[in-house]
Amino acid sequence: FRVLAIESSADDTCAAVVDASRRVWSNVVVKQHHLHVANGGIQPLVAMLAHQRNMPAAVKQALTDANLDIADIDGIAFTRGPGLSGCLSVACNAAKTLAAVHNKPLVGVHHMQAHALTVHLTMPSPPPFPCLTLLVSGGHTMIVLATSLVDFRILATTADKSIGSTIDRVVTILNIPWSELGPGPGLEAYCAEPVPDEEGPSYEPPMPMPGKLAFSYSGLHSWLERTVHAAGGIENVVNKRALARAFQNAAFAHLEAKLLLALKWCKNNDHDVHHVVMSGGVASNQLLRQRLKTCLSRFDSMELVFPEPALCTDNAVMIAWASMHRFLAKDHDSYEIHPLPGWNIEDIQSHQSRPPN
Ligand code: ATP
Ligand code: FE
Repeated sequence: FRVLAIESSADDTCAAVVDASRRVWSNVVVKQHHLHVANGGIQPLVAMLAHQRNMPAAVKQALTDANLDIADIDGIAFTRGPGLSGCLSVACNAAKTLAAVHNKPLVGVHHMQAHALTVHLTMPSPPPFPCLTLLVSGGHTMIVLATSLVDFRILATTADKSIGSTIDRVVTILNIPWSELGPGPGLEAYCAEPVPDEEGPSYEPPMPMPGKLAFSYSGLHSWLERTVHAAGGIENVVNKRALARAFQNAAFAHLEAKLLLALKWCKNNDHDVHHVVMSGGVASNQLLRQRLKTCLSRFDSMELVFPEPALCTDNAVMIAWASMHRFLAKDHDSYEIHPLPGWNIEDIQSHQSRPPN
C-alpha cells in the first residue's frame, strides 16, 4: 500500500511517498523559516501564502522523485491538526481534491502523533507500549505516555512558550548566524564549536517550576533578554558564547528534570515503561540526545530512541506512516473533512474512527 502524504501545519511545505513495507520513495521539504525568524516567530498569513505558492510543486516533486504517477498511489494522507488554521487548510484542500478527483481513500493525521510514531517507521523493532514520549518542537514541549498507536496521555506540557520557539527567539536576540537548516541547528553549531568560553561573567539562568510536572520557557527567555539589556545591547555582551551555552544547557536541564519526574510518576502509577521516545525538531540536537542518554543510564533498563535528525523536524514521511494503520484497516475519512487547528493529542480517536455501520 503506497501513501502520498502532504503536510503544511507550520512553516515547512512537505510531501512524501511511503509504502507499507516502510520504503520511503520520496521526501520533499520546502523550508521557509527565513521568512519568519527575524519577525519573532511564524507569521500565519505569510506562512499560508508560502504554502499556497509551494504546495503544487512540492507534491509534483514527491511523485517525480519517487518516479511514480498519481495512478500508482493507493491513498492520500494529510496533516489535519494541530497547527495554524490557514496553513492547515492548504494541505487539507490539496489532499481532498487529489483524493476526490482520483478516487483514492483519504486519511487526516494528527501532527504530534506522527512525530511520536516516526520511530515506528525508522526502527526495525519499534519500542513496545507503554512508552514515554518527549515531544520537543516549535509549537510543543510535552511528555506523553503512549499506550497504543492512538492513545496518548499528556503528563507534562508547557505553561507558556515551547522550547523550540524559545530557541528561535534566543538565536535572533544573540544574533547567532544560521544556515538553510534553520536557527535551532545554528545555536547547536555555535555552542558546539571547539572554542573555550572567554574570560568574563559566568551566567546563571533560572530553573523554573522545580518539582512540578510542567514546563515553562518564558522565564528563561526573559532572563536572557534582561541579561543582554543589562549589558547595553548584544554588541556589549562579554562572552556571548558562554551566554548561549548557559541558555542551551538550562533549556535541556529543564527537559531532563521533568523527564525524571515523569518516569517517577510512571513507576508510582504502575506503568511499566522501559523506553523513552524523543521527537520534534529540538530532538535532532546532538547535545540533547547525549545528555538524555547519560541521564537515563542510571536506570536499570531504560532506552532512549529517536529518529534521524531530518525526520525529527517537520516532514511528510511521518504523516504517511501515521496514516498507514488506518489505510490498512480501511478506516478512511470523508472528502468533507476539515482541519482541526486545536486538536489535542489525547483526543485522536474521537475524531478518527468511523462509527460502525
Ligand atoms: P510542532 O511540531 O509543535 O507543530 P513545528 O512543526 O513548527 O512545531 P518542528 O519542525 O517539529 O516544529 O521543529 C522545529 C523546531 O525545532 C524549531 O523551533 C527549531 O528551532 C527546533 N530545532 C530544529 N533543529 C534543532 C537543533 N538542532 N537544536 C535545537 N533546536 C532545533
Ligand atoms: Fe512538527
